Amino acid sequence: MFFGATGDLAYKEVFPALLGLVQRNRLDVPVIGVARSGWDLAQLRRRARESVEHDAGGKGKVDEEAFARLSELLRYIDGDYKEASTFRRLRKELGDARRPLHYLAIPPSMFATVTEGLAAAGCLDAARVIVEKPFGRDLASARELNQILHRHLPEDRIFRMDHFLGKEPIQNILYLRFANALLEPIWNARYVRQMQITMAEDFGVKGRGAFYEEAGAIRDVLQNHLLQVLALLAMDAPAVHTPDATRQERSRLIEAIRPLDRSSVVRGQFRGYRDEPGVAADSAVETYVAARLAIDTWRWAGVPFYIRAGKRLPVTDTEVLVEFRRPPLELFGELIPARSNHLRLHLGPDVRIELGMRVKVPGDQLIGEDVELEAANFAVGGRSPYERLLGDAMRGDTDLFARQDAVEAEWRVVDPVVGDDATPLYEYDPGTWGPEEADQLIAGDGTWSVPS
Ligand code: NDP
Repeated sequence: MFFGATGDLAYKEVFPALLGLVQRNRLDVPVIGVARSGWDLAQLRRRARESVEHDAGGKGKVDEEAFARLSELLRYIDGDYKEASTFRRLRKELGDARRPLHYLAIPPSMFATVTEGLAAAGCLDAARVIVEKPFGRDLASARELNQILHRHLPEDRIFRMDHFLGKEPIQNILYLRFANALLEPIWNARYVRQMQITMAEDFGVKGRGAFYEEAGAIRDVLQNHLLQVLALLAMDAPAVHTPDATRQERSRLIEAIRPLDRSSVVRGQFRGYRDEPGVAADSAVETYVAARLAIDTWRWAGVPFYIRAGKRLPVTDTEVLVEFRRPPLELFGELIPARSNHLRLHLGPDVRIELGMRVKVPGDQLIGEDVELEAANFAVGGRSPYERLLGDAMRGDTDLFARQDAVEAEWRVVDPVVGDDATPLYEYDPGTWGPEEADQLIAGDGTWSVPS
């Protein structure tokens, strides 16, 4: 059951993901699109066709045989989610499906309505439900939504989507850390001076101003994607013998993050944002956020974690920088730069790992220079995050979805700083690295790493 089949996300991500699942022989059950556009099945098929052509980069590049199979699986039900009759028709269409999967790719204001509608019509027995982001607007609303879902479903049948967790380079963070024994001994406050996560986008809101007005950078990417990346970077090794082990460790780590406050956050808005369609003329929504976080565990006590994310920045790049401490003694009469030893993970669109080292420059003297050892483009290609996550949900694998305790802990971290009045808003020029107040935020620990 695919709620929101006529929407933007369906077009951009979901149909290509479904096609991928068909290609890999992982999808052979009916996919029932549900929306209220007054469409019929032929229109839904056309939309699916446009979507996969767009994704493939042209008409001739679509796998015709797989698309024919996907097309055969599609069904369509037209109806309003606010009406009980819609769900009665759904119940009929489900027939004797034993374990239906309902994907709520719909406006967040509809999550509770659709869940209640499904429950009332008897569509949730043994069913699984995927809930798109954002999961709540703050801690209170996230708790409320969790309560509604739990009235009808146990936790292991709820799949809270955070597509970052389905990305290969992000899964590689966990793999890299725990498949290479040399990292673990230095992955702590003794050797790590600071970590930074930068999510830079050189584009703006791409015509989705009305959507962005409801979100802002803190709700859109910090509360969910970037705190999950932080959890992967900082968590302890999972106990591999339990099915929920990785989620457990991610949740534990997020629970140890100290809630943000005014002094640890800088919000920015690019000049021109208020002229975007759908944006209020006096909007105080942030298109940029920088935050300094602390993790209160033995491993990380005293280590600052900096996160910044913004739109209309100079480049599009998401990267992690792990900065190691300087050698304890200056043996060579030169002051080794603070950032000489580092590990940099470019998470997309380019995927690279760089290890920063200091090496001697040829000559009589023991003077060095910084170099980077680089492994490039090893994790590109393969399945899209949506294909990966939809496939996992169909199999009941919850590992790459956010658990209730993690989502609530994420909101606890950002809750004190969400909302237009919670912290000041600074303007910045498009094409720059955000407001200069963000440089002051990090000044005590150095400078922001600039993705290249
Ligand atoms: P859209 O507004 O484009 O689509 C919403 C869908 O829900 C449409 O299919 C619409 O049907 C349907 N719908 C809404 N209200 C009703 C109703 N009362 N009865 C029946 N159908 C209804 O939203 P998006 O696709 O952009 O987003 C969907 C979800 O995905 C949201 O939770 C969003 O936060 C999340 N998301 C979106 C991303 C994106 O890039 N778009 C990225 C990441 C997450 P109809 O068209 O017939 O009205």
